[in-house]
Amino acid sequence: MKYKSTRGGTPSLRFKETVKMGLADDGGLIIPEEIPVLNMSKINGFSSLSYQDVAFEIMKLFVDDITNDLLRNIIDKSYVSFDNKKIIPLIKKGGLYIAELFHGPTLSFKDLALQFLGNLLKQITEDEHRALNVLGATSGDTGSAAIYGIKGAMNINIFMLHPEKRISIVQDLQMTTVMDNNVYNLSVDGTFDDCQFIVKSIFSDVAFKKNFNLIAVNSINWARILAQIVYYFYIYSRIISEIGYTKINIVVPTGNFGNILAGYMAKRMGMPVNKLLIATNENNILTRFINNGEYAVSDVKKTFSPAMDIQVASNFERYLYYLYDESSEKIISIMDGLNRDKRILFDEVILEKARSDFSSCSTNNEDSLNMIDSFYKKYGYILDPHTACGVNSTYHADDISNYPTVCMATAHPSKFSDTVQSACGKEPDTPYHIKQLFDIERKVYSVDRNIDVIKDFICKRFS
Ligand SMILES: *Cc1c(COP(=O)(O)O)cnc(C)c1O
Repeated sequence: MKYKSTRGGTPSLRFKETVKMGLADDGGLIIPEEIPVLNMSKINGFSSLSYQDVAFEIMKLFVDDITNDLLRNIIDKSYVSFDNKKIIPLIKKGGLYIAELFHGPTLSFKDLALQFLGNLLKQITEDEHRALNVLGATSGDTGSAAIYGIKGAMNINIFMLHPEKRISIVQDLQMTTVMDNNVYNLSVDGTFDDCQFIVKSIFSDVAFKKNFNLIAVNSINWARILAQIVYYFYIYSRIISEIGYTKINIVVPTGNFGNILAGYMAKRMGMPVNKLLIATNENNILTRFINNGEYAVSDVKKTFSPAMDIQVASNFERYLYYLYDESSEKIISIMDGLNRDKRILFDEVILEKARSDFSSCSTNNEDSLNMIDSFYKKYGYILDPHTACGVNSTYHADDISNYPTVCMATAHPSKFSDTVQSACGKEPDTPYHIKQLFDIERKVYSVDRNIDVIKDFICKRFS
């Protein structure tokens, strides 16, 4: 499999090159040159395979510059730290399947891709005998998952920006209590969008990026999308016989559009999907896109689901590329327009096409808390605030009632213990390894919201 940029300005890339390049050098996002399609007997066959087996079957279609043995080995290493043998258990509650994507070491769905990416990067430093510097921005969960995947690695440093006071206590502790010398947590006086903007700007300085071998671990990195495609097929394969081989709806609490984009890719690869439901919080730019045909950037609101407090969804460009019939020219002009006008307007034809793939609902703060409360009272199951937005959407979305619905549970409720407790009066069980973090030393650097300050910080570590 070869890869290209949505903006058409890169040469054909191999898989490992895409991992190292992160954001394409022309400013676009990297996508496969073609999307492989699986037939139904192949997909049905996944139901007798383990998570790791399904991962191998899917990933090997996209990876041809790592041997099968090594790929299998990287996959196996990446899921040993999960606390459930099924990797993703499915719970039936309230007429839904809840897919618990939070059984990895840092308790969010980010572990499913970032433990894999961490091991992949270790393999790349070994193969190529060179050091790498990971740079990323986090609204809380990417940072802890990426740090866990990379801490202590020889020849890899990680610089992770997070918005000061806009992440939960547990998220903060999961990152800042890691004392390994190769881990740098930068606390930025701004929002997540500010952090993401700084990181994007540094990556677009191609000379700086090459000089420091900078690696992106945000969901602009294709390897993350790839690792996420796996679980859409896996989840489908676990329920296929029970639901009778029909299409399903999948509800995804969405921020940067990375998780749900993997679902869209799975659909393109042949998985029977009725609707992908984009669940947003009050930062509902994607809901306004689907419902009103306007993608207009406004200010970020602080909500109880901080991982979704995002305005500019960095993976959206990947979907736009397919929406506009794979035209790079069109993407370049649309993205220029977005930079200039802070909005994109969609015509009816395009919108109809988008609505055939997606529905969308936004959930306000109050409704998210009510959902946690009522779901707990009715079913004895505690939703985290992100998953609560997802579950709430299922009661309001059009076009989903005729098919079984899976809701992605993206975080363990103990990551947002205060919110959950104030919503339903019950403190979620906190795993022991999280409780311990409250008593140990922290290491964090406070920095200004300034590109040059951050570049300088990285330079000083390597002069
Ligand atoms: C990152 C995250 C999301 C948003 O996922 P995207 O891939 O950015 O759309 C939702 N919920 C939780 C708990 C997250 O950590």
